[in-house]
Amino acid sequence: GLPPYDPQNIFARILRGEIPCKRVHEDGFALAFHDINPQAPVHVLVIPKGAYVSAVDFGATANDAEIAGFWRAVAATAKALGLEEGGYRILSNIGPDGGQEVPHFHVHIFGGKRLGRMVA
Ligand code: 5GP
Repeated sequence: GLPPYDPQNIFARILRGEIPCKRVHEDGFALAFHDINPQAPVHVLVIPKGAYVSAVDFGATANDAEIAGFWRAVAATAKALGLEEGGYRILSNIGPDGGQEVPHFHVHIFGGKRLGRMVA
Protein backbone atom coordinates (compact mmCIF):
# COMPACT_ATOMS: atom_id res chain seq x y z
CA GLY A 1 0.00 0.00 0.00
CA LEU A 2 0.89 3.66 0.12
CA PRO A 3 3.26 5.14 2.72
CA PRO A 4 1.93 7.28 5.59
CA TYR A 5 1.64 11.01 4.88
CA ASP A 6 5.03 12.75 4.86
CA PRO A 7 4.65 16.38 6.04
CA GLN A 8 7.98 17.21 4.35
CA ASN A 9 6.76 16.37 0.83
CA ILE A 10 7.15 19.19 -1.67
CA PHE A 11 3.44 20.01 -1.94
CA ALA A 12 3.09 20.22 1.85
CA ARG A 13 5.95 22.72 1.76
CA ILE A 14 4.21 24.69 -1.01
CA LEU A 15 1.01 24.73 1.10
CA ARG A 16 2.98 26.10 4.06
CA GLY A 17 4.50 28.80 1.84
CA GLU A 18 8.03 27.42 2.28
CA ILE A 19 8.41 26.97 -1.48
CA PRO A 20 6.93 29.43 -3.99
CA CYS A 21 4.44 28.45 -6.67
CA LYS A 22 2.66 30.15 -9.58
CA ARG A 23 -0.83 30.25 -8.11
CA VAL A 24 -3.97 29.95 -10.26
CA HIS A 25 -6.68 29.48 -7.62
CA GLU A 26 -6.89 29.17 -3.87
CA ASP A 27 -9.77 28.73 -1.46
CA GLY A 28 -10.37 27.09 1.90
CA PHE A 29 -10.18 23.59 0.45
CA ALA A 30 -7.58 23.65 -2.31
CA LEU A 31 -4.62 25.33 -3.97
CA ALA A 32 -3.99 25.25 -7.73
CA PHE A 33 -0.64 26.15 -9.27
CA HIS A 34 1.28 25.67 -12.52
CA ASP A 35 3.36 22.51 -12.83
CA ILE A 36 7.09 23.25 -12.79
CA ASN A 37 7.65 20.91 -15.76
CA PRO A 38 4.60 21.41 -18.01
CA GLN A 39 3.57 18.53 -20.28
CA ALA A 40 0.95 20.57 -22.21
CA PRO A 41 0.43 24.27 -23.07
CA VAL A 42 -1.57 24.46 -19.82
CA HIS A 43 -0.52 22.11 -17.01
CA VAL A 44 -1.79 22.94 -13.56
CA LEU A 45 -1.92 20.92 -10.34
CA VAL A 46 -4.79 21.10 -7.87
CA ILE A 47 -4.13 19.90 -4.32
CA PRO A 48 -6.38 19.70 -1.27
CA LYS A 49 -5.27 21.65 1.80
CA GLY A 50 -5.61 18.54 3.96
CA ALA A 51 -2.91 15.87 4.33
CA TYR A 52 -3.81 13.02 1.93
CA VAL A 53 -1.34 10.74 0.20
CA SER A 54 -3.43 9.88 -2.85
CA ALA A 55 -6.87 10.04 -4.46
CA VAL A 56 -7.77 6.80 -2.71
CA ASP A 57 -6.70 8.12 0.71
CA PHE A 58 -8.63 11.34 0.00
CA GLY A 59 -11.81 9.51 -1.03
CA ALA A 60 -11.64 7.17 1.93
CA THR A 61 -10.82 9.62 4.72
CA ALA A 62 -11.67 13.24 3.76
CA ASN A 63 -15.02 14.58 4.93
CA ASP A 64 -17.83 15.40 2.49
CA ALA A 65 -17.20 19.17 2.61
CA GLU A 66 -13.53 18.65 1.75
CA ILE A 67 -14.38 16.33 -1.14
CA ALA A 68 -17.01 18.68 -2.57
CA GLY A 69 -14.77 21.71 -2.01
CA PHE A 70 -11.85 20.05 -3.76
CA TRP A 71 -13.81 19.14 -6.91
CA ARG A 72 -15.39 22.58 -7.04
CA ALA A 73 -11.88 24.03 -6.85
CA VAL A 74 -10.82 21.85 -9.82
CA ALA A 75 -13.71 23.27 -11.86
CA ALA A 76 -12.99 26.84 -10.68
CA THR A 77 -9.34 26.41 -11.68
CA ALA A 78 -10.23 25.21 -15.18
CA LYS A 79 -12.59 28.14 -15.53
CA ALA A 80 -9.93 30.60 -14.32
CA LEU A 81 -7.56 29.16 -16.94
CA GLY A 82 -10.15 29.70 -19.70
CA LEU A 83 -10.42 25.96 -20.37
CA GLU A 84 -14.15 25.63 -19.80
CA GLU A 85 -15.24 26.05 -23.41
CA GLY A 86 -12.72 23.87 -25.23
CA GLY A 87 -12.34 21.29 -22.49
CA TYR A 88 -9.33 19.74 -20.81
CA ARG A 89 -8.09 16.55 -19.16
CA ILE A 90 -7.75 15.67 -15.49
CA LEU A 91 -5.50 12.91 -14.22
CA SER A 92 -4.30 11.60 -10.87
CA ASN A 93 -1.39 9.19 -10.51
CA ILE A 94 -1.58 6.76 -7.60
CA GLY A 95 1.42 4.91 -6.15
CA PRO A 96 4.55 3.61 -7.88
CA ASP A 97 2.83 1.74 -10.69
CA GLY A 98 0.67 4.83 -11.33
CA GLY A 99 3.80 7.00 -11.62
CA GLN A 100 3.04 9.13 -8.56
CA GLU A 101 6.12 11.15 -7.60
CA VAL A 102 4.77 13.53 -4.96
CA PRO A 103 2.92 11.79 -2.09
CA HIS A 104 0.30 14.50 -1.56
CA PHE A 105 -2.94 13.91 -3.51
CA HIS A 106 -3.10 16.07 -6.64
CA VAL A 107 -5.06 16.27 -9.84
CA HIS A 108 -3.28 17.33 -13.01
CA ILE A 109 -5.19 19.62 -15.37
CA PHE A 110 -3.91 19.46 -18.96
CA GLY A 111 -5.22 21.73 -21.70
CA GLY A 112 -4.60 24.50 -24.15
CA LYS A 113 -4.54 22.27 -27.23
CA ARG A 114 -6.39 19.31 -28.71
CA LEU A 115 -4.83 16.55 -26.62
CA GLY A 116 -3.97 13.19 -28.09
CA ARG A 117 -5.75 10.07 -26.99
CA MET A 118 -3.92 8.61 -23.98
CA VAL A 119 -3.28 4.88 -23.81
CA ALA A 120 -0.36 4.83 -21.32
P1 5GP B 1 3.02 13.01 -10.08
O1 5GP B 1 3.93 12.20 -10.92
O2 5GP B 1 3.29 12.84 -8.60
O3 5GP B 1 1.58 12.81 -10.43
O4 5GP B 1 3.28 14.50 -10.48
C1 5GP B 1 4.04 15.41 -9.72
C2 5GP B 1 4.14 16.67 -10.53
O5 5GP B 1 4.63 17.69 -9.70
C3 5GP B 1 5.08 16.58 -11.73
O6 5GP B 1 4.35 16.89 -12.92
C4 5GP B 1 6.16 17.61 -11.42
O7 5GP B 1 6.59 18.32 -12.57
C5 5GP B 1 5.49 18.53 -10.43
N1 5GP B 1 6.39 19.14 -9.47
C6 5GP B 1 7.35 18.52 -8.75
N2 5GP B 1 7.97 19.38 -7.93
C7 5GP B 1 7.36 20.58 -8.13
C8 5GP B 1 7.55 21.88 -7.56
O8 5GP B 1 8.40 22.11 -6.70
N3 5GP B 1 6.74 22.88 -8.00
C9 5GP B 1 5.77 22.67 -8.96
N4 5GP B 1 5.02 23.73 -9.32
N5 5GP B 1 5.57 21.45 -9.51
C10 5GP B 1 6.35 20.43 -9.10
